[in-house]
Amino acid sequence: MTHNLHNSLINVPERKIIILDTTLRDGDQSPGMAFSAHEKLEIAILLERLGVDIIEAGFPASSRGEYNIVREITSQIKNSIISVMARSIPGDIEKAAGAIKDSVKKHLHLTMATSPIHRKYKLNKSKDEIIKMAADSVKFAKSFADSVEIGAEDSTRTEFNFLCEFCIAVTEAGADVVNISDTVGYSQPDEFFRLIKNLRKHVHAFGSGSAVISVHCHNDLGMATANTLSGILAGASQAETTLLGIGERAGNAAMEEVVTALNIRKNYYSVSTGIRSELFPEAARLISRVNAIRVHPCKPVVGSNVYSHSAGIHQHGMAMNDETYSIIKPAITSTSRFILSRHSGLKGLKEKIKQISGIELNDKDAKVIYSQFKKEADKKKSISSTDILKLLHNKGILKSSIWSIKKIYYFDVKSSEKHEFSVFLELINQDGMEKKANAVGMTKWEAIIKALKLAFHFDIKIIDFSSSLFADESALSERLHIETEFEGNIYADESFGSDSLVLFVESYLNIVNQIIVRYQFTDSV
Ligand SMILES: [Zn+2]
Repeated sequence: MTHNLHNSLINVPERKIIILDTTLRDGDQSPGMAFSAHEKLEIAILLERLGVDIIEAGFPASSRGEYNIVREITSQIKNSIISVMARSIPGDIEKAAGAIKDSVKKHLHLTMATSPIHRKYKLNKSKDEIIKMAADSVKFAKSFADSVEIGAEDSTRTEFNFLCEFCIAVTEAGADVVNISDTVGYSQPDEFFRLIKNLRKHVHAFGSGSAVISVHCHNDLGMATANTLSGILAGASQAETTLLGIGERAGNAAMEEVVTALNIRKNYYSVSTGIRSELFPEAARLISRVNAIRVHPCKPVVGSNVYSHSAGIHQHGMAMNDETYSIIKPAITSTSRFILSRHSGLKGLKEKIKQISGIELNDKDAKVIYSQFKKEADKKKSISSTDILKLLHNKGILKSSIWSIKKIYYFDVKSSEKHEFSVFLELINQDGMEKKANAVGMTKWEAIIKALKLAFHFDIKIIDFSSSLFADESALSERLHIETEFEGNIYADESFGSDSLVLFVESYLNIVNQIIVRYQFTDSV
């Protein structure tokens, strides 16, 4: 019965890779992160929407709270299989089984360390004792679940012969999946490939397909994704990943990286997954929000710089054909793809103007705007879309209002009963017209968003907003990232400076000004 569950997932014309996502278990063990019950549920629901085959929900024996969270996830998730982890001891297995007993499809993931250093210092057990404990645990776990997986913790530092013995014993005991773990991120891709290949050769159950090899790789030497892909290439049928690669120490293989590599290089790997990669940006935002960590701008697939181009020669190429300097199509199109700076060329500027305003400049106008842009770019690190729209307005190419901050101030009112923030905002456009708005909120952000919504009546939805502070002894600087949606299009902006409230309003105005120009809104908006 247990084999059928996994075979039914793999048995499709193109070899399918099962994704076991362990964001809620290994990811939850990231230093400084521990998800609340509500956050875990929110992530589980998103993992199910992503099409994850197996959601590893937690480690129920670790605490009563964890047990209850897994119960709650189990009651909400119907399509994905729920997995829970347990050490290879009866008490843990019973607790894990209890936590998923109402699940539609149950997967128990046992673990047992196999490397010499773990055997000696952690378990203080002989090889024979370890094999017996593991095989007995698999037999015991089989009575509670549809499929049983057992991980050989620290596989890559385990003697190959002993690892084979372990795999043979646990598969003969009925294990459906054996997890080959690069627990400390020690292995190198070529080495890991040979390990998986040789295990398939020497362990009958892997060669015959009656048991599945799963790969679980950590990123201590930056190899988690590469090793996972090598394992798949060598015949592993299940990959264990986390969103954004969060996890113990340097983290795990990132789901978005593994799946995107398999998709983009289908000609090389010839496998598929059931993952809906268009949801990766949403997934990245969720993990970033609940952990309060900023996604590195260069993070493959989901970083904010990944689909942006700054060099003039690249912008020229991309304006002609968007495969010249990019192999991954963004899941969402954003107007922030071209970053304007002194590196930008005429073609890049023309394309950026088309992106933010919909206007295609003729060569004569483009050259005039370009020479003014170059003067500005020598003075500033980057040029905002509002800066460009102002140049177009000054040249008479645009009639729409381009808004800037005239004055902004806020103060907080603190008493024993309440703490509120009042914001006063004055805006001015290119023709000297003014808008004024003031609002009160529980935070300065709530107050400023209310004031901006009073100033502009169209409905811009803020879908992502993060700021990072950088400090040295004498100064504080801030990088602010904002992503919004308006009528199905994404508008993103990034700004640098020293006052977060001013940065936020400037970024918001960069977006508002693009929308006013694109939709030719009048000043009454
Ligand atoms: Zn791990």
